[in-house]
Amino acid sequence: MIFDCDGVLVDSEVISCRVHAETLTRHGYPITTEQVAERFLGRSGRAALREIEAELGRAFDDALEEQLVADVLRSFAAELAPIPFIEHALDALAQPVCVASSGTLKRIAFALARTGLAARFGPHMFSAEQVENGKPAPDLFLYAAAQMGAPPERCVVVEDSVPGITGARAAGMRALGFVGGSHCGPGMAERLRAAGAAATFADMRQLPDII
Ligand SMILES: [Mg+2]
Repeated sequence: MIFDCDGVLVDSEVISCRVHAETLTRHGYPITTEQVAERFLGRSGRAALREIEAELGRAFDDALEEQLVADVLRSFAAELAPIPFIEHALDALAQPVCVASSGTLKRIAFALARTGLAARFGPHMFSAEQVENGKPAPDLFLYAAAQMGAPPERCVVVEDSVPGITGARAAGMRALGFVGGSHCGPGMAERLRAAGAAATFADMRQLPDII
């Protein structure tokens, strides 16, 4: 079982998108929380910054990326909560579990520690930092499966974003779309299914049955 982190294990996307919107707006790129979610959900912060820089035709200050990371972690420390009933779902699973996230290893570890989920995964946390291409490429999912000693076709991925579902399918894995995060608006389930999710669900208590 491969879990995405943001929006699947921890309810972080609303916080993260808000912080990115505030900081980018302050640095001369006006953007709303909703627009950040729409454009960049499921991708790495670095990929998002490079895309905006290409659009602006100029590079941001070198310190911006670091500042964004620090701002997000500070907000996580104050506000981050686990996805409701994720512990219930993890308790009910007999399969080995790991995390595969577009976030940095530091951010994954911080988010899981803050929400009391770190011990569930131990060292089995994998980041886009560790592979050549982040989601929607299959690299991270294939890397996580290899590290866990699992053939891709035996893996099930739980994801909340289109790039995540797309990457899981490209890796030859079964993909399930979770739409219970606070950031999920109407129409998300349909978009995840269109991207290749075998099923979508909004309550983690349903996960064991869906698998
Ligand atoms: Mg996510």
